[in-house]
Amino acid sequence: MGIRFGIDLGGTKIELIALDEIGAEAWRRREATPQGDYRGTLATMRGLVERAEAELGTRGSVGIGTPGAISRATGRLKNSNSVCLNGQPLVEDLQALLDRPVRVANDADCFALSEASDGAAAGLPVVFGVILGTGVGGGIVVRGRLLHGPNAIAGEWGHNPLPWPQVEELPGPDCYCGRQGCIETFLSGPGLAADFLRVTGRALSGPEILVATETGDAGCEAAFRRYEHRLARALAHVINLLDPDAIVLGGGLSNCRRLYENVPALWGDYVFSDRVDTRLLAPAHGDSSGVRGAAWLWEP
Ligand SMILES: [Zn+2]
Repeated sequence: MGIRFGIDLGGTKIELIALDEIGAEAWRRREATPQGDYRGTLATMRGLVERAEAELGTRGSVGIGTPGAISRATGRLKNSNSVCLNGQPLVEDLQALLDRPVRVANDADCFALSEASDGAAAGLPVVFGVILGTGVGGGIVVRGRLLHGPNAIAGEWGHNPLPWPQVEELPGPDCYCGRQGCIETFLSGPGLAADFLRVTGRALSGPEILVATETGDAGCEAAFRRYEHRLARALAHVINLLDPDAIVLGGGLSNCRRLYENVPALWGDYVFSDRVDTRLLAPAHGDSSGVRGAAWLWEP
């Protein structure tokens, strides 16, 4: 097949990467996302593909990663935080503009696919990829392929309730989805900050809390221990349902090294097995996983 283009379509920037047959980066560029302008967004993506093809001297396949999901029923985008994209026939329009088939998946799915293809979980049969960032998302890859269901929500456990809740965790914070106590309200960066504020009355961001744990701040350390315990319970739920070989963490909070030791030490109390061999892994491609995974939507 040759060159594969992956495009990360985000709310502020559009990035294109070109991967060769072995997954090495051959070209990369990013541009600002035209704000509130669907036609302009399409034109920017076409421009990036045309420039890459002109410079590389070859045509390539195109995969897109973006927040939100393509409805299988309507073929249109939904749940995107770039609201001008919602309800638009993104795939159809891009296929016409680029004169080739285009595949689209959400950014958490692309992250999971990248890490399962040639990243931290390369070669492992069942992989759950989790984004712990501004929001909480997930994707499932089985034997190198994304799990794609009729609702386009496989792996999206961020709006399940936090499992095995403790008394002080009920009913839980309000979530924008309309419910209370969703996993995302505890495990996103803003969720960690809100928990810390409720308990201590101090306003710090997720990354600031993390840094302060390293200097011995007792309130921050306690908040992060609560975070680890909640993450262990939330992932134990996934292990009981999916039994993955590996769980790979992404997003801003995945930079925290202690999670990879502390969380597996806690999840055994909740997994229905006498031992747990699932591995918890840091991402290999960091911030590039989303755009690389979009390219991996096409086989080499
Ligand atoms: Zn929710």
